[in-house]
Amino acid sequence: MLSYPSAPRIWWNAFTHLLYPQLCVACNASLTTSAHQCFCFKCRATIELVDFPFDNNEVIDRLWGRTRLDAAASLYYFRKKGPVQWALHHLKYGNQPDIGRRLGRLLGQKLYSSPLFQDVDCIVPVPLHPVKERQRGYNQSMAFALGLAEALHAPVLGNALVRNQFSASQTRKHRDERFQNVGEVFSAAQPKRLKGQHVLLVDDVLTTGATIEMCGNLIEQAGGRKLSVATIAVASLGKV
Ligand SMILES: [Zn+2]
Repeated sequence: MLSYPSAPRIWWNAFTHLLYPQLCVACNASLTTSAHQCFCFKCRATIELVDFPFDNNEVIDRLWGRTRLDAAASLYYFRKKGPVQWALHHLKYGNQPDIGRRLGRLLGQKLYSSPLFQDVDCIVPVPLHPVKERQRGYNQSMAFALGLAEALHAPVLGNALVRNQFSASQTRKHRDERFQNVGEVFSAAQPKRLKGQHVLLVDDVLTTGATIEMCGNLIEQAGGRKLSVATIAVASLGKV
């Protein structure tokens, strides 16, 4: 439950804002409001927020018959050349993992108020191939997972799943993976840690759902009790 900050807290926030101004995650404009916002007013005016029910929505429908989801949540709809695409671009290619953490905190605060997410046992980010993670310096889904973990008070299992396949293009990968055997792309490195757990699987953006399908099935095979999904953005099919 969020409560109104105390006066010293407000002054402290104002002070740190002067020293370290929070910037819009898309256009880098200085944010004039509290740290609970990630986009500036101008960007927010063009962003479409996701507000579907967590246990009955188009993401669950998209994965129907492919992997069993108990709940799915996302912050924004993905639109080409829109602020959300810019934020994801900065997060993945701009050496700004903090964007993922801020967005994770934002979604985590929303999820923590829902009974569907209050029993999450662990948070599992979709892994990058180790070579790609070394090149990038971090895994953007891990950054997002860390922000979610702060709000949900659940541990992040960063090594529960591993990616076996190196792919040059992240965007192309989402489509190609649909036609591949799961073992070629991912495997469960720590299945015992997933057994009996409510796992929150997290990724930056959901398009066809192929990545979530493969990782979700590995978690189910490991004996996961419940599977929920959280992404920063969800792309409507036909608009990606
Ligand atoms: Zn902006």
